[in-house]
Amino acid sequence: MSTYITAATPVEAVSAHAPHILDGIAIAAVIKAEVAEEVAALAQQGIRPGLAVILVGEVPASQIYVRSKVKTCGELGIYSEMLTPPESITTDEMLDLVAGLNARDDIDGILIQLPLPKHVDTRRLLEAVNPDKDVDGFHPVNAGRLQSGQPGLAPCTPAGIMEILKRSSLPVSGQNAVVVGRSDIVGKPAAMMLLNASATVTVCHSKTKDLGAVTREADILVAAIGRPGFVTRDMVKPGAVLIDVGINRVTNEAEMKSFFGDDEARATTFAKRGSVVVGDIHPDAFAISGAYTPVPGGVGALTIAMLMQNTVAAAKLRRGIMAGKA
Ligand code: NAP
Repeated sequence: MSTYITAATPVEAVSAHAPHILDGIAIAAVIKAEVAEEVAALAQQGIRPGLAVILVGEVPASQIYVRSKVKTCGELGIYSEMLTPPESITTDEMLDLVAGLNARDDIDGILIQLPLPKHVDTRRLLEAVNPDKDVDGFHPVNAGRLQSGQPGLAPCTPAGIMEILKRSSLPVSGQNAVVVGRSDIVGKPAAMMLLNASATVTVCHSKTKDLGAVTREADILVAAIGRPGFVTRDMVKPGAVLIDVGINRVTNEAEMKSFFGDDEARATTFAKRGSVVVGDIHPDAFAISGAYTPVPGGVGALTIAMLMQNTVAAAKLRRGIMAGKA
């Protein structure tokens, strides 16, 4: 049974209840509906936000991601364009493509699907995107804007985490937040956003000593590590909010059972696909949490919705329209 938690519910009281499942799919649906409304309002002013996605080569996983991004654009009324240069494209040719998109008035957002082929200079390319069109929020200018609290475009995954907390009425201000992972795309910006929301933030990484002692102090624990089930039950404070960013594919049946025991749904998925997805938090830990994001269906479910939100935000920022007003 899940419970509804309000901003006024102290963490201690939350722990007395069964964990609340933070449903990323439902939250994403609400955000997408809001984006569609904003797009409709912008259309009244003759503005149609546009997203260009560059997909290099033929990486099947990237093709799936890009197709669903383009499809979602269509559903919400956002113009989209897919550029599909061959694997052999050079850094200079990619820079020309980006320069062309930077110059176009009908394109508000530019997304370079990663990973790029090894011979392409990824950092140079990401930095070539006009920061005002950087809907992935990866440009150093946007990292700086996030740090200094200026309007900008924030990375989608950590922005999704903040939406989950906000829309589930979970308190952040004054809470102890521990982020495990310090990548530029998840850990660091998540820590900065939690700090901007007045949490007391600790960032952990592979060199952190006695990690469990730190994570046990967390009211909000964000795991962005990339190791299946790494955060175990004994590393979690009872009643804590667990945000699991990890997406790890487990293909070994014994390992799958070590995470999910006799869970029939997972066993069926494993039998059908030969793998299951596991987060960075061991599923056993969820039982003692106050609230948690499931994997799949938690943080990952918000990424595309946040990309759509960023595309509309970019269209407004570039035209000097205030956030929230179309
Ligand atoms: P990443 O760049 O590989 O960073 C992993 C971080 O975990 C690093 O900071 C690393 O520390 C830390 N770490 C590794 N081993 C550790 C250990 N034993 N103890 C403590 N910290 C340790 O990964 P990422 O891109 O941030 O992604 C993290 C996870 O999130 C992955 O599973 C990824 O698939 C997933 N992800 C999901 C989404 C989504 O939409 N839901 C988006 C992006 C990523 P060091 O810095 O010291 O090496």
